[in-house]
Amino acid sequence: MSNALSCDLCSAEGATRFFAVTGGPEEAGVQICETCHRQIEGELEPGHWRCLASSMWSGEPAVQVLAARLLARLAEQDWARDLAEQLWLDEEIQAWVDNQTRVGSHVDSNGAILVSGDTVVLIKDLPVKGAGFTAKRGTAVRGISLVQDNPEHIEGRVEGQRIVILTKFVKKK
Ligand SMILES: [Zn+2]
Repeated sequence: MSNALSCDLCSAEGATRFFAVTGGPEEAGVQICETCHRQIEGELEPGHWRCLASSMWSGEPAVQVLAARLLARLAEQDWARDLAEQLWLDEEIQAWVDNQTRVGSHVDSNGAILVSGDTVVLIKDLPVKGAGFTAKRGTAVRGISLVQDNPEHIEGRVEGQRIVILTKFVKKK
């Protein structure tokens, strides 16, 4: 079952879908079947994913990364947790796996994910350009909002002024 058209994940014939595996090399992806694709985009039916026991050892890094992420999604299943523990990945590939939440997410100075409405604390004095004051280290900023097109920027109110703050200078409270 290893002709060029078989699914990278479950080996079914008719791998008609390309699925991009984000967070790694540009344009990295896998060739998978309809069934796998539909479930990845929606709900995973655990029974189908026993196939990961073999595909997680694929020689293709993109396949391994996707397999590791799917096992993480299936972590409620004992067998999936066992497989995830057995899966040994090169450091580089593991970093790619972990890079998933980072891409496009707003994270604070510790890497914690920020969401709209969070309270953060400034970890250094920040001169506010144009406003003529310095936002002091230790200032709590409540109810932040995320700048959608820039994961390094959030907005919040300090001394009555709405300012843009770099995520690397805040800590989630
Ligand atoms: Zn498949």
